Amino acid sequence: MRLVPLGKTGIQVSAVGFGGIPIIRLDFEEAAQVLRHAADKGITLFDTANRYADSEEKMGRTFAGMRDKVVIATKTGQRAAKAAMEELELSLTRLKTDYIDLYQPHQVSQPAELDALLAPGGAMEALVRARAQGKVRSIGITSHSLEMARKLVATGLFATIQFPCNIVETEAAAHLFPEARAAGMGILCMKPFAGGMLDDGGLALRFLRREPDLIVLPGCDTAAQVDQAVEIFSGEAAWSEEDAAKAQGYRDELGSRFCRRCEYCQPCPQGVRITYAMMYRVVAKRMSPAKAVQFASETMETVRNCIDCGECATRCPYNLPIPEMLAEHLAMYDSHKAAQ
Ligand code: SF4
Ligand code: SF4
Repeated sequence: MRLVPLGKTGIQVSAVGFGGIPIIRLDFEEAAQVLRHAADKGITLFDTANRYADSEEKMGRTFAGMRDKVVIATKTGQRAAKAAMEELELSLTRLKTDYIDLYQPHQVSQPAELDALLAPGGAMEALVRARAQGKVRSIGITSHSLEMARKLVATGLFATIQFPCNIVETEAAAHLFPEARAAGMGILCMKPFAGGMLDDGGLALRFLRREPDLIVLPGCDTAAQVDQAVEIFSGEAAWSEEDAAKAQGYRDELGSRFCRRCEYCQPCPQGVRITYAMMYRVVAKRMSPAKAVQFASETMETVRNCIDCGECATRCPYNLPIPEMLAEHLAMYDSHKAAQ
């Protein structure tokens, strides 16, 4: 497995890491098997988060006794020092360790969140203290907002930036990644499968393998997925004309109106389940319209409550015209329902 530096931390990690969300679906023994398989195959970086249900606990139980063989990254959603320290202690307990290699404030997207993080009494104060105490080896950060991610890089405070990057979400390549590289930061690439929208996993990973310094974090819940990732990131970069055409097909299908499922638009004061309703077009294409109606009816019925106030759209970091798209999806859902 190719190793790459984790920014300027002095830590080396496998070029492909392990995203810790999908193991939530597995029981403890199944999760341990997949995690151990990944470690046996040469994956050294395991990324989880305090808010990923029992993912930290599963990693903690699996890696107890082999802590020095793995690099553990986790995250806190807290913005205040006291609460962040409490979450860090909880992560240490769940992960059965006395240090976290990379600790990351999770999904910082709004300016007010960054202000709170850096203010006196903010989470950053606690993380710097924890680093001095040896509880945290390095501090990174994650965001879904391009504008905010560039601001975070410019602060010079973080060792790594974790941001979505995949065949459909390529915005980071123009400025964010070059700026992070210039700052000597490690670049962690989340959502390589676009949150499950890219069903050709090999294509999605080959796309990212072309950038030799990206540390890619596919979520895996089977040994076969691990093997595929390891094979692609252990070998040479390969990208054919056929791959490029397929990638373009995904872009054409998902388009510039692609919802990243970051959930920043929520909550809706009228109770609309925005994120899931935003996916209806793709769901209906993937399933049959009849199945989609059955699958999404509870969600789509909430769209009838939308009063077009536009509040959600002001919170979308990708400037999606949410009320307009919701109306289109509701019309599509109604036509599918009528055709049954
Ligand atoms: S525009 Fe509709 S979905 Fe968006 S916040 Fe307002 S009521 Fe909710
Ligand atoms: S509509 Fe925008 S804010 Fe809401 S989940 Fe999708 S990308 Fe995120």
